[in-house]
Amino acid sequence: MLLTTLRRGKALQLTLAIVKPDAVAHPLILEALHQKILENNFIVIRSRELVWKRQESERFYAEHAGRFFYQRLVEYMSSGPMQAYILARDDAISRWRELMGPTKVFRARYTSPSSMRALYGLTDTRNTTHGSDSVESAHREIAFFFPEFNVREWMERSEPFFRTGH
Ligand code: GDP
Ligand code: MG
Repeated sequence: MLLTTLRRGKALQLTLAIVKPDAVAHPLILEALHQKILENNFIVIRSRELVWKRQESERFYAEHAGRFFYQRLVEYMSSGPMQAYILARDDAISRWRELMGPTKVFRARYTSPSSMRALYGLTDTRNTTHGSDSVESAHREIAFFFPEFNVREWMERSEPFFRTGH
């Protein structure tokens, strides 16, 4: 069977995930994160490696403009290659955020010791991964990274296959 089957009554959901530059730079960590994706029954729908210009980094994180960590974040996120993914499964948005763990690495180590940020995060800025936090932001962020990808069309075409498990 190529795709995981949806559990009864569950809806297929897409989320946008990023493996941030510190993790992409470290092959073993990247490998471990890929393992997590697969172990947790996410299907990788699209994936691309890219390097952000500073302006793209600023635009993506515009909601944080003015916060004390903003400049640091923007600089870091445009400092080297990262990997972006469209991931699918039921409850993809919250399941991926659960796997990431809390934003701050210190807290992640206390509250979710097996989360990606607890295991591999270096600092609150270099915290390994990103995940959309709502359906709206998932759609916005998918369009940001994969402008040619049409969420609605993909859903209409693909969801029946997930339902039957073909
Ligand atoms: P996320 O959705 O869990 O990634 O967290 P936010 O949307 O609140 O913040 C976006 C990113 O900004 C985080 O993933 C961190 O890389 C960075 N960030 C957020 N809060 C802090 C902070 O208090 N200190 C530092 N250094 N970075 C932060
Ligand atoms: Mg966020």
